[in-house]
Amino acid sequence: MSIKENLQSIKSTLPEHVSLVAVSKTKPVSDLMEAYNAGQRIFGENKIQEMADKYEEMPEDIQWHMIGHVQRNKVKYMAEFVSLIHGVDSYKLLKEINKQAKKYNRVIDCLLQIKIAEEDSKFGMSVKDATALLQSNEFSELENIKIVGVMGMATFTDNMNQVENEFQYLKSCYENLKALNSDLITISMGMSGDYQLAIDCGSTMVRVGSSIFGARNYH
Ligand SMILES: *Cc1c(COP(=O)(O)O)cnc(C)c1O
Repeated sequence: MSIKENLQSIKSTLPEHVSLVAVSKTKPVSDLMEAYNAGQRIFGENKIQEMADKYEEMPEDIQWHMIGHVQRNKVKYMAEFVSLIHGVDSYKLLKEINKQAKKYNRVIDCLLQIKIAEEDSKFGMSVKDATALLQSNEFSELENIKIVGVMGMATFTDNMNQVENEFQYLKSCYENLKALNSDLITISMGMSGDYQLAIDCGSTMVRVGSSIFGARNYH
């Protein structure tokens, strides 16, 4: 199936309250344009430089989401245009995003990445740290960022029971954090292999790559 057909078949299964991030990392601009011409406007990348290059080449009405781990020294390369940063996992990073956003007179939307997987390789904060962050004075002084939700990545496993438990855990973290801060409206969870399950567990934003663009070749 073509990129357009893949997109249409995925979109037809998404409830209205769920937004679709087309994860286009490693894919050429021609593939992204195929998705764009089929109506897709939200694209997710996991490397800042790659996202900045694609931003330069592509139409202006695209919303660019940074879904990968963010190095603080690279925030400056996306501060002008990024529309949502999914992987915020520390106050230090948030402070840098705030500083760079200020230079462009912007308020950048961010999600707190919560560690929901057992694997040590996955980044993210504990819900305890996220709670402390949202309640801190330092946080309340940051005027150029807005925390609009949470993001999580489930363990890479075929055990769907475990994935379901992790998604449900993220949903409960979200409920607890939302009680502290009503700006939170987004739960970013679910990828190609598990987005339907994620939606059943309360996801409002799915990040789908290979089911749209085909398998990625890493070199
Ligand atoms: C690559 C990636 C995805 C998409 O993965 P697929 O399995 O190709 O859908 C989603 N979220 C993050 C954080 C990713 O890095």
